[in-house]
Amino acid sequence: MKASEFYAPTLRAVPAEAELISHKLMLRAGLIRKSAGGMYSYLPLGWRVMKKIMQIIREEMDAKGGQELMMPITQPAEIWQESGRWAVYGDEMMRMKDRHGREFCLGPTHEEMITSLIRGEVNSYKQLPLMLYQIQNKYRDEIRPRFGLMRSREFVMKDLYSFDKDLDGMNISYEKMYDAYDKIFTRCGLKFRAVEADNGAIGGGHSHEFTVLAPSGESSIAYCESCDYAASDEKAELKVICAEVEEMKPLEKVLTPNCHTIEMVKNYLKVPIEKTIKAVAFQDDDGRLILAFVRGDHEVNEIKVLNATNALHLHMAEDSAINEAGGCAGFMSPIGLKDGAAIVVDLTVMEMFNAVAGANEVDTHFINVNPKRDFDAEKIIVTDIRMVQEGDPCPHCGKSLKMTRGIEVGQVFTLGNKYSKALNATFLDENGKEKFFEMGCYGIGVGRTMAAAIEQNNDADGIIWTRAIAPFEVVIVPVNAKVPEQLDYAEKIYDELKNLGVDVLLDDRTERAGVKFKDCDLIGYPIRVTISPKTLESNSVEIKVRRSGEIFHFDRADCVTKIFELLKNL
Ligand code: ATP
Ligand code: MG
Repeated sequence: MKASEFYAPTLRAVPAEAELISHKLMLRAGLIRKSAGGMYSYLPLGWRVMKKIMQIIREEMDAKGGQELMMPITQPAEIWQESGRWAVYGDEMMRMKDRHGREFCLGPTHEEMITSLIRGEVNSYKQLPLMLYQIQNKYRDEIRPRFGLMRSREFVMKDLYSFDKDLDGMNISYEKMYDAYDKIFTRCGLKFRAVEADNGAIGGGHSHEFTVLAPSGESSIAYCESCDYAASDEKAELKVICAEVEEMKPLEKVLTPNCHTIEMVKNYLKVPIEKTIKAVAFQDDDGRLILAFVRGDHEVNEIKVLNATNALHLHMAEDSAINEAGGCAGFMSPIGLKDGAAIVVDLTVMEMFNAVAGANEVDTHFINVNPKRDFDAEKIIVTDIRMVQEGDPCPHCGKSLKMTRGIEVGQVFTLGNKYSKALNATFLDENGKEKFFEMGCYGIGVGRTMAAAIEQNNDADGIIWTRAIAPFEVVIVPVNAKVPEQLDYAEKIYDELKNLGVDVLLDDRTERAGVKFKDCDLIGYPIRVTISPKTLESNSVEIKVRRSGEIFHFDRADCVTKIFELLKNL
């Protein structure tokens, strides 16, 4: 490709609308342009990167037996009504009516579509396993579309769905996809972790999020440096922390005037915070009171509380609901509450001795609370409900966990028969028995992957592409393209590189050299080959490696093979 014919508008100014570095660079380097909030055009440079990422994805999906197909983006409401998600998907779903008033949505995902596609057609266990995928636009009317392609309303997703005859088969499909994702993100040159994730509303069994490590990421993850454990902060399992065993002293009520926070209680009674028990009061959609208790220095993890109580949503509790249950806001404990509230106590709380907790009366606390002795075991749910913190022990190896932020670029889920059951998709097994398919679903955000790669690979001058996903692998810059000898010299090298299969751009624009160099750095081609009067004279070329900034001078005779070799490590 010749730059003089290539549409690649770069911007010198930093666009005001962009916060994240990747978003700024994608606009400045001419990869994307906005059309409306969360809607973008991919310009030729950006689309070249997208196509390379999609090609890597295709190769790895196909290597595992995936078969590419293409389903409609527009989906009839009926299949979503069958699964029950038409009502619950809410405002995130883009809905529309056709001229006859029939309802449709623009697909935010395709579990319903693919299940309805194969039901009735795949009838026998002999046709399984089946892994079908597509790469197409998805639509989600995000509340806060932002950060360019990171969280947009129209975005390109690869989604694969697996169908198996039993759970063992489903788990094998899951392992295959996990492995494929590992290969995809490694080939894209990303630093990432497979993070144990909460299944969220999609339901089903286990799940991992493939998360690119970046301080700007929206996900918070806990990971271990000593082993490969990593989990989202919502999911990270925590082992019980046992306090030193003490002799249990008699329970006692003490006055704690105005001490309605843990900080105040701890200061007033002069006890370490690890000796206090903190309460958080919620109500679910039905108004049920849910009381969660953790150690004073710990935080409640609402997702774990949801899972422990089978609630759908949690809201902060009204004082009236707390009073009705015999409690008192700011002075709560499980001791002496009336029946009716769900009481969830963190594992670590149960191991405390002679602790401080509310007495369910204004300005009053208990001291010498010994949960094993004083909490009514029949009335409480004891489980892990706390939020992970830096330094917590790793659930796998016991070493200290670290916290970091990341960008979720892909997710793998086992679904079990959730959708096959809801849409009544069955097959006949070896014994002629009718069974529901055991399914899995596996998504990758292609644009988000491109954005994450930039987020992780940039400097003050611009983007630094890994060769595998660079819009061009090599750019050749004759410093003055108006000089026929320079252009001629450059064109020959261009042809030789092309013949070797290198993806190369010839910057034959008649711009000043400084402008062209700035564009090269901004767009971030891995290798720049410079042709100048000096290199012509010495019959050589100058090579600049974008990532390291290294400069090499290669003889003209073997420069092409040397560039080819250099590329292998970029
Ligand atoms: P998030 O939690 O970030 O909203 P999600 O968990 O809802 O994402 P999935 O349903 O797992 O997303 O979709 C698969 C992949 O699609 C994600 O891993 C992500 O890479 C991409 N993706 C999801 N939503 C968006 C979006 N609004 N813009 C760009 N990419 C997205
Ligand atoms: Mg996800």
